[in-house]
Amino acid sequence: MERLANYIGGEYQAPLSNRYFENTNPANAKIIAMVPDSNSEDMDKAVHAAREAFPAWKRTSLSQRSKILRKLSQLILEHGDEIAHLESMDQGKPVWLASSMDVQRSAANFSFFAGAIDSLTNEAMQDQETLNYTWRDPMGVVGLITPWNLPLYLLTWKLAPALAMGNTVVCKPSELTPMTAFYLTKLLEKAELPKGVCNIVFGKGDPCGAALVKHPDVPCISFTGGTKTGLDIYTKGAAQCKKIGLELGGKNPQIVFADADIEECVQKTVQAAFLNQGEICLCTSRLFVEETVYARFIEKFAGYTQALKIGDPQKKDNFLGAVVSKAHLEKILSFVELAKSEGASALVGGEALHLEGEFAEGAFMMPTILVGVNPKSKVMQEEIFGPVVCVHPFHSEDEVIALANDVSYGLSASVWTRNLSKAHRVAQNLQVGTVWINTWMKRDLRVPFGGTKFSGVGREGGVHSLDFYSQSKNICVQLS
Ligand code: NDP
Repeated sequence: MERLANYIGGEYQAPLSNRYFENTNPANAKIIAMVPDSNSEDMDKAVHAAREAFPAWKRTSLSQRSKILRKLSQLILEHGDEIAHLESMDQGKPVWLASSMDVQRSAANFSFFAGAIDSLTNEAMQDQETLNYTWRDPMGVVGLITPWNLPLYLLTWKLAPALAMGNTVVCKPSELTPMTAFYLTKLLEKAELPKGVCNIVFGKGDPCGAALVKHPDVPCISFTGGTKTGLDIYTKGAAQCKKIGLELGGKNPQIVFADADIEECVQKTVQAAFLNQGEICLCTSRLFVEETVYARFIEKFAGYTQALKIGDPQKKDNFLGAVVSKAHLEKILSFVELAKSEGASALVGGEALHLEGEFAEGAFMMPTILVGVNPKSKVMQEEIFGPVVCVHPFHSEDEVIALANDVSYGLSASVWTRNLSKAHRVAQNLQVGTVWINTWMKRDLRVPFGGTKFSGVGREGGVHSLDFYSQSKNICVQLS
């Protein structure tokens, strides 16, 4: 069994306490690695290493940084099979999905930001006597804290632009899914990233992540995770006037109007609700269907959902693997039980799936469609983050906009209609950071990505990431 180590200053280091915790494969409950249980002293060492490496990395040319990022992208693709295998073993998702989504996107994150700095431009403003131009400085040592649902995908989404802009970083991956972050350290070596530029410390949210947030030498934190943790980080960071980016939870609505292409919509909805076991912050969790097509829609949707295969993440025809942990499975089930106790029913699923043999101890949840849930219920208001979707009929455009907006979250939404005016009108009235029209989760890396309300603060993507990981300085030159 592998014993992971922190990666600090380009060296593999045991946690100072010499304490480790177990990391298990949620599909079969087998222990796959021992993870450093790092504390604030380990974090302090990592921040120190990042500080030491910062002046030289800051001076590196954009083309040199771009070259290293491209190399990392290439290495991820070359080692895609190992990465997909590790991600699946660690997180529970099917290997085919880890390979087609997580690996591809992790590689794209590096190649995209390599290109973005190749073509980086800044503002300049002239008048008769002066020239003003914008100079971008890196932030310094940046802290990156990431969740368990898309481990390498989301880590590299932050790491690539942070490095591109000349920052050095300290990463704190989720305690539940450390495997691909550890694997990445080997690729950082191969890409010849200078020592200390990227440091990875493994451990628990508190004390390890909390120490990064509180550290006085870390002026910038980028966090993706749950809203409760995000609010805690926001408050603590504010006390030291830190720059904080938060990508938080969602309770994403999907609106299906009667004039939509129902067949296409249903097929996409199956993915939107259940891809990655519903453990994507962008998954549809509230599905509003116009009353006149409601019966037809849910019949088709139920049919497709019942046909989904679940189980061994290695098998290509399994659409769903295991959810991330037994504890998470219990949380998902508690929402379903609550819905049932409030009078709702499970049209499909509604239970854990108990497999035999190798997977008897696995955390498998059946894809679940709930009907009859009150929109004010906790089940419709709070993030479940599993393969559970609530379907609810609506009668008018105004009513469905009000229903869609009636949650504290505002991450994303999707709208299905053939009426273009209606599509734009509804999209503009939804209080979310992203609206997809007649599609779901099409991600162009140039566009602003983030949430409104309790789904986040700030935007990532394209120039927004480059802005976040740098600070603009105006330089004013007297010309005459
Ligand atoms: P958590 O908030 O529990 O954890 C996220 C990260 O924060 C983990 O690395 C965690 O460490 C760390 N952490 C926990 N407590 C602290 C603390 N006090 N100080 C600093 N760091 C801390 O989220 P999950 O890992 O459960 O991820 C699921 C959540 O992420 C969902 O709500 C989902 O919606 C959201 N998410 C949002 C996305 C977006 O783009 N908006 C994208 C993907 C997910 P540890 O694991 O050790 O607890």
